[in-house]
Amino acid sequence: QLRLRSALALVTGAGSGIGRAVCERLACEGASVAACDLDAAAARETVRLLGSPESEEGAPGGKHAVFQADVSEARAVGRLLEQVQARFSRPPSVVVSCAGITRDEFLLHMSEEDWDRVVAVNLKGIFLVTQAAAQALVASGRHGSIINISSIIGKVGNLGQTNYAASKAGVIGLTQTVAKELGRHGIRCNSVLPGFIATPMTQKVPQKVIDKVTGMIPMGHMGSPEDVANVVAFLASEDSGYITGASVEVTGGLFM
Ligand code: NAD
Repeated sequence: QLRLRSALALVTGAGSGIGRAVCERLACEGASVAACDLDAAAARETVRLLGSPESEEGAPGGKHAVFQADVSEARAVGRLLEQVQARFSRPPSVVVSCAGITRDEFLLHMSEEDWDRVVAVNLKGIFLVTQAAAQALVASGRHGSIINISSIIGKVGNLGQTNYAASKAGVIGLTQTVAKELGRHGIRCNSVLPGFIATPMTQKVPQKVIDKVTGMIPMGHMGSPEDVANVVAFLASEDSGYITGASVEVTGGLFM
């Protein structure tokens, strides 16, 4: 049974890693996917991988579509929601914010620029996307499910990641507050806290660190983007219809 048959899902960070796996999983559940990334070519490749022959960019009537936007810019996010609604004649009822970056440095040496950029993409970006999507849903009287990708690091911190940990902790608080404000509109909002997942983001982690962290994971191995996407699909579907404001950890037991 397809759990998301008539759903339209907007996914940011759709061009890589977890965002790409989320697009594939939601499409498998029957959703139309609006795949957004800063890197339009990467998002286009994701839509190609969804495999629907009519899913080329801009093709009228295609099941999926590609959008380019920098989620940290309010005007770009406003334009994104307008373009998605123009293309699909309705606002997205599933919104998954996967766009995220790291710029690691120890506190004693962290530049203001690295702090600002990580918070702008990881936290302000989620505020902008969540707000614009929620405004469109409330205006149209539709229900929805908003899923924000935080990180277990937002709960426990990590060496060299004051900017990243703060941004991800912020996403948890934002998500809980949105859940409280929008529950009466039939809009749920949950965050997912991945642990150590094998994606391009973690490819740059030195093998020594990978071995050390993997040794701390009860499940004994890194997670896959699909492990995260499966949980996102559950939160997007009515199977989780009474879950809102939750922070769901997908960590293989790391830092429980
Ligand atoms: P990734 O680097 O593979 O993918 C991130 C995507 O976001 C890229 O396609 C990139 O182009 C896009 N992006 C970056 N800045 C953007 C912007 N300003 N606007 C729009 N798109 C932008 O990373 P990933 O590992 O797939 O991570 C996805 C999310 O999961 C991130 O929020 C990340 O913090 C979070 N996360 C990842 C892990 C992990 O171990 N990989 C763990 C916890 C949380």
